[in-house]
Amino acid sequence: MGSELYLCATPIGNLDDMTFRAVQILKGVDFIAAEDTRHTRKLLTHFDIHTPLIHYDENNKSAVGKKIIERLLNGESAACVTDAGTPAISDPGADLVRLAVDANIKIIPIPGACAAINALIASGLDTNQFTFVGFLPNKNFADRLKALKDCRETLIFYEAPHRLNKTLEKLFETFGARRVVLARELTKIHEEFIRGRLGSIVVDDPRGEFVIVVEGADDEPPVKDFIDSDVLTIYNRLIKDGVERREAMRLTAKQFGLSRREVYQLTLKEFESQ
Ligand code: SAM
Repeated sequence: MGSELYLCATPIGNLDDMTFRAVQILKGVDFIAAEDTRHTRKLLTHFDIHTPLIHYDENNKSAVGKKIIERLLNGESAACVTDAGTPAISDPGADLVRLAVDANIKIIPIPGACAAINALIASGLDTNQFTFVGFLPNKNFADRLKALKDCRETLIFYEAPHRLNKTLEKLFETFGARRVVLARELTKIHEEFIRGRLGSIVVDDPRGEFVIVVEGADDEPPVKDFIDSDVLTIYNRLIKDGVERREAMRLTAKQFGLSRREVYQLTLKEFESQ
């Protein structure tokens, strides 16, 4: 080992998700750059790792980043770990990698847990094509969402619990009643998947960590051969999912190439025949 930067994934909740290779690398490098040294020290203690830690985070990344690169150029080896999961995914690890690339330093990824990928694979939504959005910016929040409106791939967002419901509201305003899955506390005791539609999911007192997975824009052409009961089946399913009536009519109409009024007439007919 020498002049190498290891990007070492760490568990996102369950310590058993640490890989053998990660333990071996963290034991072998000269130092570890960690986002929160107290948090990482607990992980190191658990795995009997005694490598020195330095603090590298969003606030000190430019000054400390340069120092890390100097040490690597002088022949030391380092591992970068972040609070949890895969470094450089929505955390300051990405900036260190850019500096290392510019300095021609060898970069070695050590794979492991990543919240986005685990939320996606358990979502039941399309996994063939997806867009990782990460955290939405505070500034230009609405513009960023609008830019994603026609994106056909499954969308993956990270969000802090205190902003979760507000963000779900904004997602509904932009995307309508698309299917959504909230992956909460992945790999932890209270792991939970909340499935439903935008506009009908609100989490009471959201706690813990969340990934929001939203289905992509619908590119299906309207259904051609159908009978009235097909239309009503879809409409009633949306209502059962908690979608508001007007939105359910809009979505049903879109699916069958009908007007909202035509769907409305069918629901009236069904109501009258009961
Ligand atoms: N680098 C990390 C990764 O590989 O997933 C992500 C770091 S980012 C700063 C933290 C965000 O990841 C959280 O706000 C949450 O959206 C998501 N996250 C991390 N751990 C999670 C978990 N156990 N369950 C659900 N979401 C999680």
